[in-house]
Amino acid sequence: MPQLQSKQEKILTKQYPLTARDVNDYAYCPRIPYWLKVRKIRQPKSIKMRYGEQYHAKYLRRAKPSSETLVNIYMKHKMLNISTIIDLIELNENNLIYLHEVKFTKLPPKIPINHYLQLIAQSVVIENNFEGKKVSKAFITYPSNNYIEIPLPISKEKIIRPILKSIREIIHLEILYPPTSNYNKCLDCEFYKYCRRA
Ligand code: SF4
Repeated sequence: MPQLQSKQEKILTKQYPLTARDVNDYAYCPRIPYWLKVRKIRQPKSIKMRYGEQYHAKYLRRAKPSSETLVNIYMKHKMLNISTIIDLIELNENNLIYLHEVKFTKLPPKIPINHYLQLIAQSVVIENNFEGKKVSKAFITYPSNNYIEIPLPISKEKIIRPILKSIREIIHLEILYPPTSNYNKCLDCEFYKYCRRA
């Protein structure tokens, strides 16, 4: 397993615990970690988010835990100092793991990059907790009862480490990046009233 590159990076890792959700937020718009972690604004809950929580709870109630199926499970990667709550994981033969995530959105034509990177971050944490096993694919289930199957790469840490570093730099150096170039994202963003793309 590659070592963290610098002393500074080690200090930042200790100082700033992160979650897979932070990776999702950063990939959606790098301004979000600034509002959440530097300005410490509590994420306002939209109606869509409340419905999402209810849908999520319903899905988890229906899931049946067993020796091969773990449901709603908290995990942490101590060295990277990143944690996550995983909706469901399936332990398969051949040391493979399938990761299941529920999203309260419309079935997209293609998985958004922020959702993909959240899955990669979660997989890094899972693999750290199940030595010798690999998360080979993930499934995202949508309210329409459709799902997308996503194959995951072998080397996931290489993707996640620079993202964690960037988020920690935003917090440590209080960096406010320019607004996202995709204005449509702002229409759905809970931080718009603080940000206003200024
Ligand atoms: S309003 Fe737009 S630019 Fe501002 S944080 Fe949200 S998505 Fe980013």
